[in-house]
Amino acid sequence: MKLYNDFFGEFGGRYVAEVLRAPLAELEAAFVEAMGDRAFRAELEEVRRDYIGRPTPLLHARNASRETGGAQIYIKLEGLANTGAHKINNAAGQGLLAKRMGKRRIIAETGAGQHGVATAAICAKLGLACRVYMGAVDIRRQRPNVFWMELYGAEVVPVTSGSRTLKDAVNEAMRDWAGSFADTHYLLGSALGPSPFPDMVREFQSVVGAETAGQAEERGLDVAALVACVGGGSNAIGFFNPFVEKAQPRLIGVEAGGRGRGAGNNAARMGGEGAVGIVQGYKSLFLLDEDGQVLPTHSVSAGLDYPGIGPQLADLGKRGRIEFTSVSDAEALEAVRYFARHEGVVFALESAHAGAYALRLARELPRDKAIIVNMSGRGDKDLFISARALDPEPWMRFLTEEAGGEASPSTVGPGLSARSAGERSRS
Ligand SMILES: *Cc1c(COP(=O)(O)O)cnc(C)c1O
Repeated sequence: MKLYNDFFGEFGGRYVAEVLRAPLAELEAAFVEAMGDRAFRAELEEVRRDYIGRPTPLLHARNASRETGGAQIYIKLEGLANTGAHKINNAAGQGLLAKRMGKRRIIAETGAGQHGVATAAICAKLGLACRVYMGAVDIRRQRPNVFWMELYGAEVVPVTSGSRTLKDAVNEAMRDWAGSFADTHYLLGSALGPSPFPDMVREFQSVVGAETAGQAEERGLDVAALVACVGGGSNAIGFFNPFVEKAQPRLIGVEAGGRGRGAGNNAARMGGEGAVGIVQGYKSLFLLDEDGQVLPTHSVSAGLDYPGIGPQLADLGKRGRIEFTSVSDAEALEAVRYFARHEGVVFALESAHAGAYALRLARELPRDKAIIVNMSGRGDKDLFISARALDPEPWMRFLTEEAGGEASPSTVGPGLSARSAGERSRS
């Protein structure tokens, strides 16, 4: 794998306005130079070890493996990384690079808020100013992550154009960067966008795959397959990276099957519904309507509902090296419960798509084979979705009580019992 590629087969490229050519070229040169410098690598290694908490463990899911009766399931616990997901691997790498380039300010886009949280955290650590663009609709839906970003000292800017979601936040960040790149780095969150972002994000995420390869070899595992969920594709390409040029093991990407087939119900770009397009600076497969406009998507997991896929994954899929499949909202939620009960591990809803598929696949393979699933994040962040779906009644009662108490502390809110109301009025 070369460090820097303009295109991956027919996908990728740098389809941007003239004004963004200079900062992208500057970034590409700085990235290639930094990765060749032992001092930069040592700095990155220290942040990975002491701040992120690497290496993350590889857990043998013994109970799940016994119950399925087939292949041994192993879980790469990226969710144990600081801030709760793999996103910090990329944010930390780009943060260090930006600092080395002499930038003092970071901008980022965020959808569900996970990338924004990772970016805000590393900016606090490295002493960089941080502004996160987030669609106004997403700000309303993802209040907890807005709170965390602001706690880390970031400025969260609501984007009110277009559909007021992720793609509009990306446009806004690009617009900012076009006028600010002299002192500002745009810290993009997945393995997509104009080059060199797909390469850079893959390199910073490939620590996941490199550790996994070492851990599997140490234990003498006969690995039949690696399984990862695919939103933009950063956790998947980082996890798969050491293996993409080999014939084995099988590499399986799991997309959001959502509520089923048909436009607006899922985010399965590789599963047949994606079309070739050029969107937000790169060529890849996107969910588009007949006029080439980006379609709405749906997934229970906020991180998997992006309408496009990283160009390298699109190419590896087209060439057959990566197999793509999808898992529904309901199956992902069930996998969250399954792994919590059987392994004492709570998957993020995104990662649970990969977990669910690993359970299916394990049943088809012999016991002496291993399947490794990347748990890209842990599920604490999904509390408001999982609790509502898996345990609705007590959860909704709790929310009502909290809201009642907060909105009018001196009165008894709807759903408040006499006892809890009494406790509140004393405090
Ligand atoms: C953002 C996110 C994803 C999807 O992003 P990729 O770039 O496809 O990895 C997956 N899992 C978690 C936990 C996330 O936060």
